[in-house]
Formats: sequence, structure tokens, C-alpha cells
Amino acid sequence: MQYKVPFVDYGKQYLEELKPYLDYAFHKVMSAGDLILRKDVEMFEKRLAKLVGTKYAVGVGNGTDALMLSLKAAGIKSGDEVITSAHTFFATLEAIVNNGAKPVLIDTDFDDLLLKEEDIESKITPNTKAILPVHLAGNVCNMDLIMNVAQKHNLIVIEDACQGLGAVKNPRGLVQCWSFFPAKILGSYGDAGAITTNDEEIYKKVRALRNHNMVKEKGSMLFYGTGFNSRLDNLQAAFLNIKLDFLKKHLKRRNKIARMYDTGLSGIGDIKTPNQRETYQDYIILTQKRDELCEYLKKQGIETLKDEYVFPPEYEIPENTKVVGQTALRLPIAPILNNSQINYVVKKIREFSSR
Ligand SMILES: *Cc1c(COP(=O)(O)O)cnc(C)c1O
Repeated sequence: MQYKVPFVDYGKQYLEELKPYLDYAFHKVMSAGDLILRKDVEMFEKRLAKLVGTKYAVGVGNGTDALMLSLKAAGIKSGDEVITSAHTFFATLEAIVNNGAKPVLIDTDFDDLLLKEEDIESKITPNTKAILPVHLAGNVCNMDLIMNVAQKHNLIVIEDACQGLGAVKNPRGLVQCWSFFPAKILGSYGDAGAITTNDEEIYKKVRALRNHNMVKEKGSMLFYGTGFNSRLDNLQAAFLNIKLDFLKKHLKRRNKIARMYDTGLSGIGDIKTPNQRETYQDYIILTQKRDELCEYLKKQGIETLKDEYVFPPEYEIPENTKVVGQTALRLPIAPILNNSQINYVVKKIREFSSR
């Protein structure tokens, strides 16, 4: 279906904004034959570390692997418990479970849709090894509180920053995990991810783990243990280096669209917008009539995303998180969308509420 306002529009962004730059990057990489772990990956890692404010960055295959490899590098194993956000994309939990550990879910604050930091301490047991806060939709968890609890109980902090680029700066957790899935703030043209850290050990471990836990020495390949093939593709890295040049502009545009929604949607029906700071991965609204609104907007040619993750039954979802899953809707905020498209969304939401 052809939407008047699609949630994202990669084709339009390519054709109208990025084509000459991306085509040039493609041509350069293809002519050089630079495909696996080449200089575009290295450059991207340097630029990402600088942007985030860490000593190191390591490009990996995707955000899920960034979480997987971080947990492994940090020594999380079978029998460990990892305290994390109940309201998150399933990948966060998969990474924990695929390391043999058990996710312990913290309920969600209606105010900012992040985990309730004050509930963390009561969930700590002798098996707890790590806290894995999720910085959702461009909002950042209260790291003062989290670092305090972590220090007090000697726990590792691994941050799921897959939706937090531009918002998570000078981080204090042991490692941050990033996704460059196309719809993310910094989107590649396929799958891509990275970790950032100030810890040399973690840096070295993840660098080896992403490449079969292997280090090259004097022409030999030394395998330290069982690793993975999860390398950031060099062509994607070249594209990401282009996208990085546009990051400031794109964040600003997302912000501008958010302000248009703030103004346009204030005082309409029961619609609430959670507290958001200055970075927008997505613009989320909360309404009791979420499903009807989503359906109505779809009929008007507007694509939205229900912020609803239905997990397998063995995951017990706490109360607020259930409510958020039934009431939260993500509105289109891709930087390539123009003002008349955003005004159209506002108009149609107003129309829905006054029926
Ligand atoms: C996107 C996302 C991931 C997974 O990233 P992929 O690159 O798709 O593997 C993990 N956690 C959160 C919060 C995400 O939004």
C-alpha cells in the first residue's frame, strides 16, 4: 500500500537528499574492492566513539549482536540474572536468554516510558550480575540512580542504546549497544550495529568475538574460543559515514517535527505525550483509543507503529508495561517527511478525536 505519510521513506530520502553522496561512497568502495573489515569500518568506529564520547567503538553485524557479544564479553553466563526493561524490543531479552541468563523485568514509568529505576534494587538476588537499561525512543534512563545501585551491589551495567543515538553522551555504563537498522536514528541500508566502551578489555574481547574470537598475529590466526561471525559490513560502514555527516541535520529535523506534534496535538481528547528530552527516535503518544486511532489513520494513508511487543507466554509482563503496550502509538517522524505531511497527520488525529 502506498501511504501518504509512510512511517519511513528510504527511497525518497535516497532520491531527494542522499543519492550523490551514497552513490559516490558505493563507487569508491566497489572500485577499491574494500569489503570486509576495511578502512571504512575503522573510520566509522573512530567517528562513533568520538560522537558518543568513549575511547573505543567496535562495529558488529546488528544491534542484537551488539547486545549478545557485550553480554558474552562481560562474562554473563548460564544461571546469571540480568535486570532489564520490560518495555523493550524483544532483541534485548533474546540477547540475555541466548547467553543462558535469565532476564528479570522492571516495570515501566508512564512519564517517560523507561524502566522504573527505583524498582531495580528490590529485584537484586545473589544471582544478579548485570543491569541492562534500555534507552527507549531517544529517552535516556536515569543513569545516576542506575550507576549508584550497580556500584552498591557490584553489578555490571550494559546499556541498550539502540534507540538512543544523539541522546546517550559520555556514558558511564561498561558498554553501550547500538543498532543501525534502517529505521533507527542513524540507519544503514541493511543490518549494522556497534558497541562503544571505555574498557580496553571489553573492547578487545568484542573485537575478537565478532570475528570468530580470532586475533591475527604474525600472519597466524589465533582462536581464543568460540566466537561469532558478526562483522560490520564495510559497504554499510561507508554508507554510515555519509549518514553521520547528516546526523545533526536529521536530529534537528526530528526535533522540529516533534515540536509540530507537541503544538498540534496538545489538548486533543485523552492524548498524552510522554516526557521527552531533546532527541527523537520516535514520537510516541498514549491514548485509550490507540487501536481505533491506528486503524483510522491507516485508512487516511498514515502509517503508524503500535508500541506493543507481545512476548511468548513465559515472560511475565508487569502491569504498567501491559497498559503502555495497549495505549502507545509511534507517529511518523522520519526527517525526510515534509511539513504538510506532518500537518496532515495532526489534522487527521484531530478529526478522529472530534468525531
Ligand atoms: C532495534 C533494537 C534492537 C535490535 O537491533 P537490530 O539492529 O535490529 O538487531 C535492540 N534493542 C532495541 C531497543 C532496539 O530498538
